[in-house]
Amino acid sequence: MTDALVAFLKARYDELQAQQEDPFAAWHSPDCEAVPDSWGRETGACNCGVPARTLREVETKRLLLEQAVTSRHLFTGDQYMDCPLLTEADGAKADHVERIQALNDMYLEELGREPACIDTCGRDARVRRTLELLALPYSDHPGYEEALRR
Ligand SMILES: [Zn+2]
Repeated sequence: MTDALVAFLKARYDELQAQQEDPFAAWHSPDCEAVPDSWGRETGACNCGVPARTLREVETKRLLLEQAVTSRHLFTGDQYMDCPLLTEADGAKADHVERIQALNDMYLEELGREPACIDTCGRDARVRRTLELLALPYSDHPGYEEALRR
């Protein structure tokens, strides 16, 4: 559900970094506007140069993105309290994850309820919100709406 947003954000960050490495690439970007000289004449120059501060901001956003997607589901050690989406990556042992999976299977079979991140965990909602906020500066990008929908 968040994979499209993660891919969208990484692509935007890669574009910014590529512009630093190849300033002529910016000329092909639809986001660039020509910069007139001090006489107002068209110069063919572009205002899309990426300053060092912008690159530091991109690196910071990459760290925020990584922190969000690697955040953990609720793990209390009580299979009835833990988030149904708990995995070993969240710190649980394999046998505990198997018990939770068995509960998930039972709920799905008896109640038709797919396992989902619970409110007391909130991990998936926090990740989604973080990704939405990170994507907001790119709301005018043609791929923005689709990345939000998927
Ligand atoms: Zn959760």
